[in-house]
Amino acid sequence: MKPFVYNGLPARVVFGTGALSKLPEELDRLGTKRALVLSTPEQRESAESVKAALGARAAGLYDKAAMHVPIEIAEDARRVARELGADCCVTVGGGSTTGLGKAIALTSTLPILAVPTTYAGSEMTPIFGITEGGAKKTGRDARVLPRAVIYDPNLTLSLPPALSAASGMNAIAHAVEALYSHESNPIISLMAEEGIRALANALPTIKMSPSDLPARSDALYGAWLCGIVLGSAGMALHHKLCHVLGGSFNLPHAETHSIVLPHAVRYNQSASEAMQRIEHAIGAADAASGLYDLEKKLGLPMRLADLGMKEADLERAARLATEAPYPNPRKVEYAPVLELLRDAYSGRRPS
Ligand code: NAD
Repeated sequence: MKPFVYNGLPARVVFGTGALSKLPEELDRLGTKRALVLSTPEQRESAESVKAALGARAAGLYDKAAMHVPIEIAEDARRVARELGADCCVTVGGGSTTGLGKAIALTSTLPILAVPTTYAGSEMTPIFGITEGGAKKTGRDARVLPRAVIYDPNLTLSLPPALSAASGMNAIAHAVEALYSHESNPIISLMAEEGIRALANALPTIKMSPSDLPARSDALYGAWLCGIVLGSAGMALHHKLCHVLGGSFNLPHAETHSIVLPHAVRYNQSASEAMQRIEHAIGAADAASGLYDLEKKLGLPMRLADLGMKEADLERAARLATEAPYPNPRKVEYAPVLELLRDAYSGRRPS
Protein backbone atom coordinates (compact mmCIF):
# COMPACT_ATOMS: atom_id res chain seq x y z
CA MET A 1 0.00 0.00 0.00
CA LYS A 2 1.41 3.38 -1.05
CA PRO A 3 1.26 6.20 1.54
CA PHE A 4 -1.76 8.45 1.10
CA VAL A 5 -3.77 11.31 2.59
CA TYR A 6 -7.54 10.97 2.87
CA ASN A 7 -9.44 14.17 3.56
CA GLY A 8 -13.16 13.39 3.88
CA LEU A 9 -15.53 16.32 3.35
CA PRO A 10 -18.55 16.75 5.60
CA ALA A 11 -21.79 15.86 3.84
CA ARG A 12 -25.31 15.03 4.85
CA VAL A 13 -27.09 13.09 2.12
CA VAL A 14 -30.75 12.15 2.06
CA PHE A 15 -31.28 9.74 -0.81
CA GLY A 16 -34.39 8.05 -2.17
CA THR A 17 -37.47 8.21 -4.34
CA GLY A 18 -39.71 10.86 -2.79
CA ALA A 19 -36.88 12.22 -0.61
CA LEU A 20 -37.81 15.76 -1.66
CA SER A 21 -40.65 15.57 0.87
CA LYS A 22 -37.95 15.74 3.58
CA LEU A 23 -36.92 19.24 2.51
CA PRO A 24 -38.79 21.13 5.28
CA GLU A 25 -37.29 18.78 7.90
CA GLU A 26 -33.83 19.30 6.47
CA LEU A 27 -34.22 23.08 6.55
CA ASP A 28 -35.27 22.79 10.19
CA ARG A 29 -32.13 20.77 10.92
CA LEU A 30 -30.08 23.62 9.44
CA GLY A 31 -32.01 26.05 11.65
CA THR A 32 -33.08 28.15 8.64
CA LYS A 33 -36.43 29.85 8.17
CA ARG A 34 -36.30 31.80 4.88
CA ALA A 35 -35.04 29.83 1.89
CA LEU A 36 -34.33 31.38 -1.48
CA VAL A 37 -35.12 28.73 -4.11
CA LEU A 38 -32.83 28.86 -7.16
CA SER A 39 -33.31 27.39 -10.63
CA THR A 40 -32.69 27.99 -14.33
CA PRO A 41 -35.53 29.56 -16.34
CA GLU A 42 -36.16 26.10 -17.88
CA GLN A 43 -36.72 24.52 -14.46
CA ARG A 44 -38.86 27.28 -13.01
CA GLU A 45 -41.87 24.97 -12.77
CA SER A 46 -40.03 22.42 -10.57
CA ALA A 47 -38.67 25.26 -8.45
CA GLU A 48 -42.17 26.76 -8.12
CA SER A 49 -43.48 23.49 -6.74
CA VAL A 50 -40.58 23.31 -4.27
CA LYS A 51 -41.32 26.89 -3.20
CA ALA A 52 -45.02 26.07 -2.79
CA ALA A 53 -44.18 23.02 -0.67
CA LEU A 54 -42.03 25.23 1.59
CA GLY A 55 -44.88 27.64 2.27
CA ALA A 56 -43.78 30.29 4.79
CA ARG A 57 -40.25 28.84 4.85
CA ALA A 58 -39.68 30.18 1.30
CA ALA A 59 -38.33 33.71 0.99
CA GLY A 60 -38.67 33.69 -2.80
CA LEU A 61 -37.63 32.17 -6.10
CA TYR A 62 -34.77 33.30 -8.33
CA ASP A 63 -34.86 31.57 -11.72
CA LYS A 64 -32.01 33.08 -13.72
CA ALA A 65 -29.26 30.51 -13.10
CA ALA A 66 -27.15 30.07 -16.26
CA MET A 67 -24.25 27.91 -17.44
CA HIS A 68 -20.86 28.86 -15.93
CA VAL A 69 -22.35 31.40 -13.46
CA PRO A 70 -21.92 34.80 -15.19
CA ILE A 71 -20.81 37.39 -12.60
CA GLU A 72 -23.75 39.69 -13.47
CA ILE A 73 -26.21 36.95 -12.52
CA ALA A 74 -24.26 36.05 -9.38
CA GLU A 75 -24.36 39.68 -8.24
CA ASP A 76 -28.03 40.05 -9.06
CA ALA A 77 -28.87 36.86 -7.14
CA ARG A 78 -26.78 38.04 -4.14
CA ARG A 79 -28.75 41.31 -4.14
CA VAL A 80 -32.09 39.44 -4.31
CA ALA A 81 -31.02 37.13 -1.45
CA ARG A 82 -30.12 40.17 0.67
CA GLU A 83 -33.30 42.09 -0.15
CA LEU A 84 -35.51 39.11 0.64
CA GLY A 85 -33.69 38.45 3.90
CA ALA A 86 -32.95 34.86 2.85
CA ASP A 87 -31.05 32.75 5.39
CA CYS A 88 -30.25 29.83 3.04
CA CYS A 89 -30.45 28.78 -0.61
CA VAL A 90 -32.23 25.71 -1.95
CA THR A 91 -30.79 24.88 -5.37
CA VAL A 92 -33.08 22.86 -7.63
CA GLY A 93 -31.17 21.89 -10.74
CA GLY A 94 -27.87 20.83 -12.24
CA GLY A 95 -24.36 22.23 -11.90
CA SER A 96 -25.37 25.67 -13.16
CA THR A 97 -27.96 26.16 -10.43
CA THR A 98 -25.79 24.64 -7.70
CA GLY A 99 -23.03 26.93 -8.97
CA LEU A 100 -25.23 30.00 -8.48
CA GLY A 101 -25.95 28.91 -4.90
CA LYS A 102 -22.20 28.61 -4.38
CA ALA A 103 -21.62 32.13 -5.74
CA ILE A 104 -24.11 33.45 -3.18
CA ALA A 105 -22.59 31.36 -0.35
CA LEU A 106 -19.12 32.61 -1.19
CA THR A 107 -19.88 36.20 -0.23
CA SER A 108 -22.74 35.75 2.23
CA THR A 109 -22.01 32.41 3.96
CA LEU A 110 -25.70 31.45 3.40
CA PRO A 111 -25.82 27.66 3.68
CA ILE A 112 -26.88 25.65 0.62
CA LEU A 113 -29.33 22.79 0.59
CA ALA A 114 -28.85 21.20 -2.82
CA VAL A 115 -31.46 19.25 -4.75
CA PRO A 116 -29.53 17.98 -7.81
CA THR A 117 -31.41 17.10 -10.99
CA THR A 118 -28.45 16.09 -13.20
CA TYR A 119 -25.43 13.84 -12.66
CA ALA A 120 -22.80 16.64 -12.69
CA GLY A 121 -21.87 16.23 -9.00
CA SER A 122 -21.22 19.87 -8.07
CA GLU A 123 -23.32 19.43 -4.89
CA MET A 124 -20.59 17.27 -3.33
CA THR A 125 -17.70 19.65 -3.94
CA PRO A 126 -16.27 22.82 -2.38
CA ILE A 127 -15.35 23.98 -5.91
CA PHE A 128 -16.93 27.14 -7.32
CA GLY A 129 -16.70 28.85 -10.68
CA ILE A 130 -17.72 32.35 -11.77
CA THR A 131 -17.37 33.77 -15.29
CA GLU A 132 -16.22 37.35 -15.67
CA GLY A 133 -15.18 39.08 -18.90
CA GLY A 134 -15.39 35.79 -20.81
CA ALA A 135 -13.04 33.93 -18.43
CA LYS A 136 -14.20 31.41 -15.85
CA LYS A 137 -12.38 31.62 -12.53
CA THR A 138 -12.60 28.61 -10.28
CA GLY A 139 -11.57 28.09 -6.70
CA ARG A 140 -12.13 26.02 -3.59
CA ASP A 141 -13.79 27.29 -0.45
CA ALA A 142 -15.36 25.29 2.37
CA ARG A 143 -18.20 27.86 2.57
CA VAL A 144 -19.64 26.74 -0.78
CA LEU A 145 -19.95 23.05 0.06
CA PRO A 146 -23.69 22.33 0.44
CA ARG A 147 -24.64 21.57 4.04
CA ALA A 148 -27.21 18.98 2.98
CA VAL A 149 -28.09 17.25 -0.29
CA ILE A 150 -31.41 15.65 -1.18
CA TYR A 151 -31.11 13.14 -4.01
CA ASP A 152 -34.56 12.29 -5.31
CA PRO A 153 -34.50 10.21 -8.52
CA ASN A 154 -38.03 11.47 -9.34
CA LEU A 155 -36.48 14.84 -10.20
CA THR A 156 -34.23 13.28 -12.81
CA LEU A 157 -37.07 11.65 -14.78
CA SER A 158 -37.51 14.83 -16.83
CA LEU A 159 -33.81 15.05 -17.74
CA PRO A 160 -33.90 14.36 -21.51
CA PRO A 161 -32.22 11.03 -22.50
CA ALA A 162 -29.43 12.71 -24.48
CA LEU A 163 -28.61 15.07 -21.60
CA SER A 164 -28.87 12.19 -19.12
CA ALA A 165 -26.29 10.23 -21.11
CA ALA A 166 -23.90 13.18 -21.48
CA SER A 167 -24.30 14.19 -17.83
CA GLY A 168 -23.69 10.59 -16.75
CA MET A 169 -20.47 10.46 -18.79
CA ASN A 170 -19.44 13.79 -17.20
CA ALA A 171 -19.81 12.07 -13.82
CA ILE A 172 -17.85 9.03 -15.01
CA ALA A 173 -15.07 11.40 -16.11
CA HIS A 174 -14.70 12.65 -12.52
CA ALA A 175 -14.27 9.09 -11.28
CA VAL A 176 -11.87 8.11 -14.07
CA GLU A 177 -9.54 10.99 -13.25
CA ALA A 178 -9.84 10.37 -9.50
CA LEU A 179 -8.48 6.86 -10.14
CA TYR A 180 -5.22 8.20 -11.56
CA SER A 181 -5.17 11.50 -9.64
CA HIS A 182 -1.99 12.56 -7.86
CA GLU A 183 -4.30 12.72 -4.82
CA SER A 184 -5.83 9.28 -5.29
CA ASN A 185 -6.22 7.01 -2.28
CA PRO A 186 -7.82 3.60 -1.64
CA ILE A 187 -11.17 4.96 -0.34
CA ILE A 188 -11.60 7.35 -3.25
CA SER A 189 -10.71 4.54 -5.68
CA LEU A 190 -13.43 2.31 -4.18
CA MET A 191 -16.00 5.05 -4.62
CA ALA A 192 -14.78 5.94 -8.11
CA GLU A 193 -14.94 2.36 -9.38
CA GLU A 194 -18.39 1.82 -7.88
CA GLY A 195 -19.61 5.16 -9.30
CA ILE A 196 -18.45 4.22 -12.81
CA ARG A 197 -20.05 0.78 -12.50
CA ALA A 198 -23.42 2.15 -11.33
CA LEU A 199 -23.58 4.73 -14.12
CA ALA A 200 -22.26 2.49 -16.90
CA ASN A 201 -24.96 -0.07 -16.04
CA ALA A 202 -27.80 2.42 -15.63
CA LEU A 203 -27.26 4.78 -18.58
CA PRO A 204 -28.10 2.32 -21.41
CA THR A 205 -31.39 1.47 -19.63
CA ILE A 206 -32.19 5.19 -19.19
CA LYS A 207 -31.56 5.76 -22.90
CA MET A 208 -34.10 3.08 -23.82
CA SER A 209 -36.52 3.90 -21.06
CA PRO A 210 -36.03 7.37 -19.52
CA SER A 211 -38.74 6.81 -16.92
CA ASP A 212 -37.18 3.62 -15.50
CA LEU A 213 -37.02 4.64 -11.85
CA PRO A 214 -34.61 1.91 -10.61
CA ALA A 215 -32.14 2.88 -13.37
CA ARG A 216 -32.58 6.58 -12.54
CA SER A 217 -31.93 5.73 -8.90
CA ASP A 218 -28.76 3.75 -9.73
CA ALA A 219 -27.50 6.56 -11.94
CA LEU A 220 -28.05 9.16 -9.22
CA TYR A 221 -26.26 6.92 -6.71
CA GLY A 222 -23.34 6.68 -9.15
CA ALA A 223 -23.41 10.45 -9.68
CA TRP A 224 -23.25 10.99 -5.93
CA LEU A 225 -20.13 8.80 -5.65
CA CYS A 226 -18.54 10.51 -8.65
CA GLY A 227 -19.30 13.90 -7.07
CA ILE A 228 -17.56 12.88 -3.83
CA VAL A 229 -14.41 11.87 -5.68
CA LEU A 230 -14.45 15.09 -7.72
CA GLY A 231 -14.50 17.05 -4.47
CA SER A 232 -11.74 14.98 -2.86
CA ALA A 233 -9.09 14.27 -5.48
CA GLY A 234 -7.47 16.73 -7.87
CA MET A 235 -8.39 16.27 -11.53
CA ALA A 236 -5.96 15.79 -14.42
CA LEU A 237 -5.53 16.31 -18.18
CA HIS A 238 -9.11 15.42 -19.14
CA HIS A 239 -10.63 18.11 -16.91
CA LYS A 240 -8.03 20.66 -18.02
CA LEU A 241 -8.95 20.00 -21.66
CA CYS A 242 -12.65 20.32 -20.92
CA HIS A 243 -12.13 23.57 -19.03
CA VAL A 244 -10.21 24.97 -21.99
CA LEU A 245 -12.79 23.78 -24.53
CA GLY A 246 -15.71 25.06 -22.45
CA GLY A 247 -14.11 28.28 -21.26
CA SER A 248 -12.29 29.47 -24.39
CA PHE A 249 -14.35 27.83 -27.16
CA ASN A 250 -17.76 27.86 -25.50
CA LEU A 251 -18.45 24.14 -26.04
CA PRO A 252 -21.28 22.59 -23.96
CA HIS A 253 -20.09 21.16 -20.65
CA ALA A 254 -21.39 17.59 -20.43
CA GLU A 255 -21.07 16.69 -24.14
CA THR A 256 -17.49 17.97 -24.23
CA HIS A 257 -16.59 15.76 -21.28
CA SER A 258 -18.17 12.82 -22.97
CA ILE A 259 -16.32 13.27 -26.29
CA VAL A 260 -12.90 13.93 -24.78
CA LEU A 261 -12.94 11.19 -22.13
CA PRO A 262 -11.93 8.08 -24.17
CA HIS A 263 -9.06 10.02 -25.75
CA ALA A 264 -7.81 11.37 -22.42
CA VAL A 265 -7.96 7.83 -21.05
CA ARG A 266 -5.91 6.53 -23.99
CA TYR A 267 -3.36 9.31 -23.34
CA ASN A 268 -3.08 8.10 -19.73
CA GLN A 269 -3.10 4.38 -20.43
CA SER A 270 0.19 3.93 -18.57
CA ALA A 271 -1.78 4.40 -15.31
CA SER A 272 -2.38 0.65 -15.35
CA GLU A 273 -4.16 0.17 -12.03
CA ALA A 274 -6.68 2.89 -12.92
CA MET A 275 -7.19 1.30 -16.35
CA GLN A 276 -7.90 -2.09 -14.77
CA ARG A 277 -10.47 -0.59 -12.41
CA ILE A 278 -12.22 1.21 -15.29
CA GLU A 279 -12.24 -1.98 -17.36
CA HIS A 280 -13.68 -3.92 -14.44
CA ALA A 281 -16.36 -1.27 -13.83
CA ILE A 282 -17.55 -1.03 -17.45
CA GLY A 283 -16.99 -4.70 -18.33
CA ALA A 284 -14.56 -4.06 -21.20
CA ALA A 285 -11.14 -5.41 -22.13
CA ASP A 286 -9.74 -1.93 -22.78
CA ALA A 287 -10.69 1.21 -20.83
CA ALA A 288 -10.40 3.82 -23.62
CA SER A 289 -12.17 1.92 -26.40
CA GLY A 290 -14.67 0.52 -23.87
CA LEU A 291 -15.71 4.04 -22.85
CA TYR A 292 -15.88 5.04 -26.51
CA ASP A 293 -18.15 2.08 -27.27
CA LEU A 294 -20.37 2.88 -24.27
CA GLU A 295 -20.82 6.45 -25.54
CA LYS A 296 -21.60 5.22 -29.02
CA LYS A 297 -24.21 2.86 -27.60
CA LEU A 298 -25.73 5.83 -25.74
CA GLY A 299 -26.07 7.73 -29.03
CA LEU A 300 -23.86 10.58 -27.82
CA PRO A 301 -22.08 12.95 -30.20
CA MET A 302 -18.60 11.49 -30.78
CA ARG A 303 -16.79 14.36 -32.51
CA LEU A 304 -15.82 17.82 -31.24
CA ALA A 305 -16.69 18.90 -34.78
CA ASP A 306 -20.32 17.99 -33.94
CA LEU A 307 -20.28 20.56 -31.11
CA GLY A 308 -19.10 23.37 -33.40
CA MET A 309 -15.36 23.17 -32.65
CA LYS A 310 -13.30 24.49 -35.56
CA GLU A 311 -10.35 22.46 -36.79
CA ALA A 312 -8.32 25.68 -37.03
CA ASP A 313 -8.73 26.17 -33.25
CA LEU A 314 -7.25 22.81 -32.24
CA GLU A 315 -3.69 24.12 -32.02
CA ARG A 316 -4.71 27.02 -29.78
CA ALA A 317 -6.65 24.61 -27.57
CA ALA A 318 -3.61 22.33 -27.30
CA ARG A 319 -1.43 25.31 -26.38
CA LEU A 320 -3.85 26.51 -23.69
CA ALA A 321 -4.17 22.99 -22.25
CA THR A 322 -0.43 22.48 -22.02
CA GLU A 323 0.65 25.94 -20.81
CA ALA A 324 -0.30 25.39 -17.15
CA PRO A 325 -1.27 21.72 -16.98
CA TYR A 326 -2.94 19.98 -14.04
CA PRO A 327 -0.86 17.17 -12.49
CA ASN A 328 -1.26 14.14 -14.75
CA PRO A 329 0.15 10.60 -14.71
CA ARG A 330 1.75 11.07 -18.15
CA LYS A 331 3.71 14.22 -18.92
CA VAL A 332 1.46 16.76 -20.63
CA GLU A 333 3.13 17.74 -23.91
CA TYR A 334 1.92 19.82 -26.83
CA ALA A 335 2.36 17.34 -29.70
CA PRO A 336 0.56 14.32 -28.18
CA VAL A 337 -2.15 16.57 -26.69
CA LEU A 338 -2.75 18.05 -30.14
CA GLU A 339 -3.01 14.51 -31.50
CA LEU A 340 -5.50 13.66 -28.72
CA LEU A 341 -7.59 16.71 -29.69
CA ARG A 342 -7.43 15.77 -33.38
CA ASP A 343 -8.77 12.30 -32.49
CA ALA A 344 -11.56 13.85 -30.39
CA TYR A 345 -12.30 16.32 -33.20
CA SER A 346 -12.74 13.57 -35.78
CA GLY A 347 -14.27 11.02 -33.38
CA ARG A 348 -11.70 8.31 -34.08
CA ARG A 349 -12.14 5.18 -31.92
CA PRO A 350 -9.06 4.85 -29.64
CA SER A 351 -7.08 1.89 -30.95
P1 NAD B 1 -26.88 22.50 -16.20
O1 NAD B 1 -27.09 22.69 -14.75
O2 NAD B 1 -26.31 23.65 -16.99
O3 NAD B 1 -28.25 22.05 -16.87
C1 NAD B 1 -28.37 21.93 -18.29
C2 NAD B 1 -29.82 22.17 -18.70
O4 NAD B 1 -30.61 21.07 -18.27
C3 NAD B 1 -30.43 23.42 -18.06
O5 NAD B 1 -31.27 24.03 -18.99
C4 NAD B 1 -31.23 22.84 -16.91
O6 NAD B 1 -32.30 23.66 -16.53
C5 NAD B 1 -31.72 21.55 -17.52
N1 NAD B 1 -32.03 20.50 -16.54
C6 NAD B 1 -31.29 20.14 -15.47
N2 NAD B 1 -31.88 19.13 -14.82
C7 NAD B 1 -33.04 18.85 -15.49
C8 NAD B 1 -34.08 17.91 -15.31
N3 NAD B 1 -34.03 16.99 -14.34
N4 NAD B 1 -35.10 17.92 -16.17
C9 NAD B 1 -35.12 18.81 -17.20
N5 NAD B 1 -34.16 19.71 -17.44
C10 NAD B 1 -33.13 19.74 -16.59
O7 NAD B 1 -25.99 21.21 -16.53
P2 NAD B 1 -24.92 20.42 -15.66
O8 NAD B 1 -24.19 19.59 -16.64
O9 NAD B 1 -25.56 19.78 -14.50
O10 NAD B 1 -23.97 21.54 -15.07
C11 NAD B 1 -22.96 22.16 -15.85
C12 NAD B 1 -22.30 23.28 -15.08
O11 NAD B 1 -21.94 22.82 -13.78
C13 NAD B 1 -21.02 23.76 -15.72
O12 NAD B 1 -20.94 25.17 -15.59
C14 NAD B 1 -19.93 23.09 -14.93
O13 NAD B 1 -18.71 23.79 -14.95
C15 NAD B 1 -20.55 23.07 -13.55
N6 NAD B 1 -20.03 22.00 -12.68
C16 NAD B 1 -19.41 22.37 -11.54
C17 NAD B 1 -18.91 21.41 -10.68
C18 NAD B 1 -18.26 21.82 -9.40
O14 NAD B 1 -17.82 20.99 -8.63
N7 NAD B 1 -18.17 23.10 -9.13
C19 NAD B 1 -19.06 20.04 -10.98
C20 NAD B 1 -19.71 19.69 -12.16
C21 NAD B 1 -20.20 20.68 -13.00
